[in-house]
Amino acid sequence: MNASSATVVVLGSTNWDICMYLPHLPTPGETVGEGRLKTNLGGKGANQAVACHRAGANTTFISCIGDDATGTTVREEFEAIGLNTSAVATLSNTTTGTACIFIDESAENCIGLTAGANGELTPELVNQHRDTISAADVLLVQLETPIESVLAAAKIAHEAKTKVILNPAPARSLPDELFQYVDVLTPNEGELAQLSGMPTDTEDELNAAAEALIHKGVTNLIVTLGKNGAALFQDQWAVLKQTFAPFVVDAKDTTAAGDTFSGNLAAVIAQTGDYTQAIETAMAAAALSVTREGAIPSIPTREETTEFSK
Ligand code: ATP
Repeated sequence: MNASSATVVVLGSTNWDICMYLPHLPTPGETVGEGRLKTNLGGKGANQAVACHRAGANTTFISCIGDDATGTTVREEFEAIGLNTSAVATLSNTTTGTACIFIDESAENCIGLTAGANGELTPELVNQHRDTISAADVLLVQLETPIESVLAAAKIAHEAKTKVILNPAPARSLPDELFQYVDVLTPNEGELAQLSGMPTDTEDELNAAAEALIHKGVTNLIVTLGKNGAALFQDQWAVLKQTFAPFVVDAKDTTAAGDTFSGNLAAVIAQTGDYTQAIETAMAAAALSVTREGAIPSIPTREETTEFSK
């Protein structure tokens, strides 16, 4: 594999993030003042596409935005970042997806989301990009767009031997058919619990939940563990587990840590095919991202990640 020509197709959501930094997260009925406002390009798809692009892979982003003022701003932001937007469709009569994110002083967040154009990313639209998906080294998908489209894209990729990475976020149940097309699944602990239907509170429980997913046909399962690092479970003659120690940093804002992880993972798998190297790079990039505020502004370049991991 030639690192400079590695190609990744990211299929997923684009959102406009309205981030408000507050002394604490509001409880129902409460108004919390003294907020500081920041607006950013976001959405799991866009975040992961930018992470992958900044990690040095040739990245094509398949996504939908609305024909509203936000859509125009979003497209300008993509162009400023240098992301290939030839497969980003502007749809009429719909709004661009929008997320309202509250972040407290300890970097915890809670998020409200409206899908808008993300809900209009149909299997027919996916099919228009069949050749691009088939020619890529890796397809990276998440779950903020309709599941039928995720399934359609994964099936096209699988048939073409394009590796499929699924970041199963936000958590939802998945059709069994999807598992057979996925080469790498990257849940966090909560998503692992949801997908397996098992608790993940202790290490033994987490291992058992991971094994249950492996038995559903997942070949490579990477569980992200926040500030505790990550674990890789692989289906060999038995289920093998490899743990990855975390990078210790002073976290300011964990928004998009998982997206930074997934985008870097996809880039390095496309570039090298080496899972260990991909996880180590993804963890370094994600750790660096949590030391910065916001989603896309926090995502590092490969050079920054390399410098950070020295
Ligand atoms: P989010 O939804 O906040 O974007 P996530 O829940 O999908 O993230 P996490 O498991 O929280 O995913 O984080 C992904 C990876 O980011 C972790 O495996 C870890 O490598 C890195 N990471 C996250 N938080 C921290 C932290 N506080 N310190 C160091 N690394 C972190």
